[in-house]
Amino acid sequence: MRSAAIIVAAGRSARINSEIPKQYQKLGGRPVLRWSVDALAVMDSIIVCIDPRDAPLALAALHGTPAQTTPGGATRTASVAAGLRALAPAAPEVVLIHDAARPGLSVATIARLLDALRDADGAAPALPAVDALKRADAAGFVAEDVSRDGLLRVQTPQAFRFAAIQEAYARLPADAAFEDDLAVARAAGFRVKLVAGDPQLAKITYPEDIAAAARTLAPGLPVVGSGFDAHRFGPGDHVTLCGVRIPHGAGLIGHSDADAAWHALTDAILGALGLGDIGDHFPPSDMRWKDAPSELFLAHALKLAVEAGAQLANADITLICEAPRIKPHREAMRARTAAILALPEARVSVKATTTEGLGFLGRGEGLAAQATALLILPAS
Ligand code: MG
Repeated sequence: MRSAAIIVAAGRSARINSEIPKQYQKLGGRPVLRWSVDALAVMDSIIVCIDPRDAPLALAALHGTPAQTTPGGATRTASVAAGLRALAPAAPEVVLIHDAARPGLSVATIARLLDALRDADGAAPALPAVDALKRADAAGFVAEDVSRDGLLRVQTPQAFRFAAIQEAYARLPADAAFEDDLAVARAAGFRVKLVAGDPQLAKITYPEDIAAAARTLAPGLPVVGSGFDAHRFGPGDHVTLCGVRIPHGAGLIGHSDADAAWHALTDAILGALGLGDIGDHFPPSDMRWKDAPSELFLAHALKLAVEAGAQLANADITLICEAPRIKPHREAMRARTAAILALPEARVSVKATTTEGLGFLGRGEGLAAQATALLILPAS
């Protein structure tokens, strides 16, 4: 069965104050329109009805897809008619007609629609009306209670046998303006079946709808990074760990302030981002980093995270040493780290352990730290 889709994307977003029409705005790294095109890639051909003034935006949004464009009309009805004419040479058996402003289309919904077409002339997804319904007067006062019994909210795509819907559209007067394709189908006497809709198919109407859709459809990709660092003890009277000065009978030898905890954490963040390690960004041969506070390194890794659009979710640091005792300083170290990371303290952990006297750490030759960081990358 040859199948096709028409995506209506010619609207000008009267309700969204933006220079870029909503169907071309980004949602989780992809234009809103592209979500529908990708979902409908299971069809044999896709026609997107656009406003010719948006041609450069459409070209960019559809790059690398098999979708073709055709100029839409002044109304939704005229745009669909143009889409049907553009599809005619391909002679598909079924066509799904979809609004570009509904990015949350799933393969399951497409399958339900195609299945319903086996014993109906048309099919559309629909959801029950769950809120109480009222008719209001012009001043905003309730004029009438409306029963929601049997009332459904109809979504797109709406599915038809191509030849039948093509004929129904061909019979319409030139200035016909229907709200959707079911209305055209019913005017032509079609038997139209409603199948289960999908809350994720919600229409993007208001500016805040794009952010809401992104939270549902593109919650982001979690990436994790780990870091390890060790420094040797040497002359001195304190060590610096997580930016906190801790009195000790020795110091830590290092090019910078030798804050192994924050070095490990910096490496964990760089690791999650796939951006190398602390030595790549701050070579020990560079005299600028001599005795530098490690806050600089951590701040740099955080800046790279922000530039990647990533959000740090949590950080977990483990110190490994026999001495100094970490426990009395743990809360201060946690608070300092949380402040630098701009995270609530509950999402920053500082722990300590020993190696039970084993190895270089057990012999007190040095101190080590390991860290894990979870970042959420924007969905692409
Ligand atoms: Mg180090």
